[in-house]
Amino acid sequence: MKRIPPFYSLVRGIGVKDVYHDNAECPIAKSVEEFYRLPGTGKNRTHCTFCAILNESFDSRGVNISSPLSPHPEG
Ligand SMILES: [Zn+2]
Repeated sequence: MKRIPPFYSLVRGIGVKDVYHDNAECPIAKSVEEFYRLPGTGKNRTHCTFCAILNESFDSRGVNISSPLSPHPEG
């Protein structure tokens, strides 16, 4: 349940494609050391599949994700 600002890296870690990540629980994101992380989604990069799955599962469970666009209802 850890959404993070999107980042990409010039090293892929354990990933096989050039993607950007936005979930701290992503195993590929975890494999990229913070030193190599660059802010943003990069150019011509797609969203990491693992991050997408993780984000989706969190959304469907209604876990409190802090987003100004979708205020989480109390209770
Ligand atoms: Zn990822």
